[in-house]
Amino acid sequence: MFDDSALRRRTLLAALAGAAAVPLLGGRAQAASPKVYIDPGHGGTDPGAVGNGLQEKALTLDISLQLRTILQANWAVDVRMSRTTDITRSLAYRTDDANAWGANLFVSVHINSGGGTGFESYRYPTADAATVNLHNAVHPKVLAAMRSVGSVTDRGPKTANFHVLRETTMPAVLTENLFIDTLADANLLKRADFITAIARGHADGIATYLGLGSPNPPTFSVIVDNATAGRFTASTNWGTSAYSSQRYGADYRFATPTPASDAAWFKVDIPAAGNYRIEVRHPADPGYSSAAPHVVVTSAGNQTVNVDQRSNGGVWRSLGTFPLAAGDRNLLAVSRWTNATGYVVADAVRVTRV
Ligand SMILES: [Zn+2]
Repeated sequence: MFDDSALRRRTLLAALAGAAAVPLLGGRAQAASPKVYIDPGHGGTDPGAVGNGLQEKALTLDISLQLRTILQANWAVDVRMSRTTDITRSLAYRTDDANAWGANLFVSVHINSGGGTGFESYRYPTADAATVNLHNAVHPKVLAAMRSVGSVTDRGPKTANFHVLRETTMPAVLTENLFIDTLADANLLKRADFITAIARGHADGIATYLGLGSPNPPTFSVIVDNATAGRFTASTNWGTSAYSSQRYGADYRFATPTPASDAAWFKVDIPAAGNYRIEVRHPADPGYSSAAPHVVVTSAGNQTVNVDQRSNGGVWRSLGTFPLAAGDRNLLAVSRWTNATGYVVADAVRVTRV
């Protein structure tokens, strides 16, 4: 629902259009991060449009908070929001705050009403070329993201004399993300994956406009301790100790060297094929092994790395980066089969996608 009937002249626009900040392009050394202003429509005493058990103010906040998370997780951007909770903000506050902050772009997130269906978005009628570029980047990205989940009508990019488009001094767009009072649209807006898709589409459009490049690959890092339920197995030949204060967690496991593997296994669920850094932690002691065999099950076969467990205790030690297949399996073994004297120790492993 758009929320503006004033027809004040956009007096600042003409004066500032020529001096408006050009978006900072990625790759420029020393360049400050682009400043992205997100405006979740309505809030507090103003619910916005309501229908089918939904309130516009809650949906716009949910989308906007996810949009901020996606932007910050994938690109070097500064993000500011007109609100991050269910509070009342005037239209003047929203544009004054963005202008004072010096935002490089402004995106206002709304939900439509009035009995139509589909997605539409707006810029100011006489907006400059940078605003047109922003609009042309955001509109198709949001539409494509929505259509990855469900069927959505494209009502097209439009122009309108809305306060937040008129009184902002940087490129600004306003999105109307389906109709809250149309049942088919509301049913999509009730789906968590659809809300996330809307946020993802806004993020993709903003990144495209700013020239930020591809998003970071998904991050993944997990720690498996010898006490992690269902993820560690060792025979009864392995003792349990809390002797060293350098241990990870409550305790660790140890065994004497012997000419048989009798390995202790750490099981890890790898989310996708790729390269992963594998680190281990162990307490150190002069009585521990100078060459404890660690066997990594890689997609190119098993690889063994010997670890001197007499020193460097209580810190994460990298075994290296390895290609791993996707899937949940025993990934790392600590073997007893070594000529070195001293206990071999199994305490914790950390696997991180790189
Ligand atoms: Zn609205």
